Amino acid sequence: MELDKMDENDWKYHGEGNKSLVVSNVQHARVLRLLKYSTEDAENSHKTTEQAFRHIQNIVDYSQNVMKPLLGEKFIHNGEAVKLPLDFVRQLSLKVQQERPESRCDKVMDTFSGCALCLPNLTQLSSCCCCREHRPPLCIEIKPKCGFLPSSRHVTKEIKNQVCRFCMHQHFKLAHGKWKRLSRYCPLDLFSGNKQRMSLAIKHLIEEPQNNFKIFKGGECIYSCKDDADVLQDLDELAQHLRPYFLPSGSLMNGHQSSKVVLNELIQVIVSALLSSWDPRKTHLSEGRVRCEASLLHRDLLRNTNHCLPKDCVLDKILGTQMLDNLDIEGLNPLFKRVEQHLQDFPKERSSLQIDGPYTHSFLEKIQKCPTEDDGSIEYAVGKVHQYRVAMTAKDCSIMITIATCGEEDGLDQSLEIQPSKPRFTYSVSILDLDPKPYESIPHQSRLDSKIVNHYLRSTLPNN
Ligand code: ATP
Ligand code: ZN
Ligand code: MG
Ligand code: MG
Repeated sequence: MELDKMDENDWKYHGEGNKSLVVSNVQHARVLRLLKYSTEDAENSHKTTEQAFRHIQNIVDYSQNVMKPLLGEKFIHNGEAVKLPLDFVRQLSLKVQQERPESRCDKVMDTFSGCALCLPNLTQLSSCCCCREHRPPLCIEIKPKCGFLPSSRHVTKEIKNQVCRFCMHQHFKLAHGKWKRLSRYCPLDLFSGNKQRMSLAIKHLIEEPQNNFKIFKGGECIYSCKDDADVLQDLDELAQHLRPYFLPSGSLMNGHQSSKVVLNELIQVIVSALLSSWDPRKTHLSEGRVRCEASLLHRDLLRNTNHCLPKDCVLDKILGTQMLDNLDIEGLNPLFKRVEQHLQDFPKERSSLQIDGPYTHSFLEKIQKCPTEDDGSIEYAVGKVHQYRVAMTAKDCSIMITIATCGEEDGLDQSLEIQPSKPRFTYSVSILDLDPKPYESIPHQSRLDSKIVNHYLRSTLPNN
């Protein structure tokens, strides 16, 4: 990429989240991730180029030096902070505006700093030789959210040990108009390691994707949340897209039957990718933390299974990092206050305690060497605060599963009815969206937590 010869016609709208807007290159497997800011907050958000570049470099450092060692080398791709010509960024912003979903337009793309994060496009497989002549690669994006129930003794509301945060948050979002329907997805099912539970979790994601599930084909998003979606029609369209990947071309199955088969095949491939690991060992999940009372799965399925994840599979790595939040926000808040008090008394220590970075190896050490018991020290408090922030990042990241079919095409039309040979797949699994969560947002997290819990108690358990 030649930064001085950037042309907006080489880039197109790819997607966006709450913090950033992503454009993809039409030729190369690259994306640019540009920051967004709220229109109400325009004054505060006009960073100078140097500030914005520093901010993006911080994201790169954090992903590389902190999240990568925790989540595993093989899942994380290096990004690079870049400075782009302002003219290019302005043209790009005009070009993508009409593609943006209305619900995201409360924020605007940063067109002032010219800074962006350049990343490999994970919805394409740039290094794969076999997919070129064959079918375009499929990519499944899952934003799994928090996969365990807190076991901290600081938790004051019993319900938090029974119903997971995602399921409680759903009720809150529905009441506040964020979504029109409840999702039946429960993260504890996905992280359970039990194939049956995982399959149902993915089925629920497909039925109501919200912002937790997307499918790309050849780099184009072909399935995601739509506000007034006609779910059944969408599912049929999706099955049409997937048919050539999962069903032999001469299959005689009728439409409805084949949609079911195709979606089921997709789910099985996702489950295998999520559980794939070279390590034969298992991580056993403690019984009390793997069952969410709000999950709609049959009770027997929840009860009679042994819960474990293959060690070092993507779910194991993400869950392990999420669990660094072992005090819960209720136990963390007093430690946050201890840090605040300390910073008031010794403002100069803000940098040596690495409150706002830099995200170096020694930041990671503060996380890994944090004492297990509270010895009343500032080091303990800072270590726990850092751990909490890292866990927050892991609760908010996305898993990308890129699938390519490889070879075996010739066998497809033969022996239709008996045992049609299925195309074989290769997949690669990555993790993205690994931004540091701001230290300052901890009080907000604490208030939000009690709002969500209180709302859940009021709306679902009238007798409490
Ligand atoms: P969130 O609101 O989840 O925090 P965000 O604003 O931090 O989101 P990202 O999740 O990083 O932004 O990016 C938004 C979307 O862009 C992703 O959900 C994904 O679909 C797409 N995307 C981001 N990075 C890449 C990449 N490297 N390759 C392909 N697609 C990407
Ligand atoms: Zn749940
Ligand atoms: Mg995201
Ligand atoms: Mg994010």
